[in-house]
Amino acid sequence: MKKLLISFIVVLSITSIVLGEIFISENSSSNIIKENKNNSKYIENNSKHDVKNHNVKNNNEKPIILVHDVSPKYFKQLKEVINVINKYHYANHTMLFVIPDLENPPSGGKWDLRRNKEFVKYLHELEREGYKIELHGYKHTFHEFNCPKDECLEKLHNAEIIMRDCGFDNLSFFIPPAWALNNDSLKVLLEHNYTVILTNEIIYPNGTTKKIMNKEYTWYLKKEYVNLYLIKAEINYRYALKHHIPFYLSLHPQTITYGGGLEFLNKFLKFINQTT
Ligand SMILES: [Zn+2]
Repeated sequence: MKKLLISFIVVLSITSIVLGEIFISENSSSNIIKENKNNSKYIENNSKHDVKNHNVKNNNEKPIILVHDVSPKYFKQLKEVINVINKYHYANHTMLFVIPDLENPPSGGKWDLRRNKEFVKYLHELEREGYKIELHGYKHTFHEFNCPKDECLEKLHNAEIIMRDCGFDNLSFFIPPAWALNNDSLKVLLEHNYTVILTNEIIYPNGTTKKIMNKEYTWYLKKEYVNLYLIKAEINYRYALKHHIPFYLSLHPQTITYGGGLEFLNKFLKFINQTT
């Protein structure tokens, strides 16, 4: 009887988590996007951009992995993540979002890519293996792209200079640190031909948006919760698949390497390989 009661509670909590997630993802459209959609003049002016160039390879509707906070500061952790991804031959479906000069907390330029040649060499090797190198802010300070237009322009140009100096001049995707943007910064990014990925939408350079499901399950995930979160992820993924919503799996090298994070990634990719 006690066993039955525990199973009932587990099923009930999974159902409520999943329903909650679905409800949130269907209803939480950010104000930035709403305002952007209303800005039809801006969208018309930019409709010349080719959206096709910005579509990620998404055969069989496989999830796309988004690795955040790619910085020499987390070199060791990144290698551990890459080992798991390579085990499942998933490079072609993985995007690495690089911080050009991590200064959070301030570190006097220690993590500037230009001063970390070994790390840059590693990123180029990964690029050759099929990983995509993209941009995740500039210094990754608190809400750094929630700023006035001029400031945003300066940060973006500084970020691009570092990336170009390191041989990465083909950037087309941007994830703002902490997902924080405003209409001014969004406009700057789109004008620079970036496709912006947020938690439930992707915004193309021409201003059009597409609904996505973008989830992170491995933020300091405790070992004992791995199986529960796997069930949650599988239900989310099947829901996205059924409704033809592209599914993105976000992760941070410095938090996934804690507790059961890598075990989760292993098991999730195994499940994906068996399903798709
Ligand atoms: Zn970040």
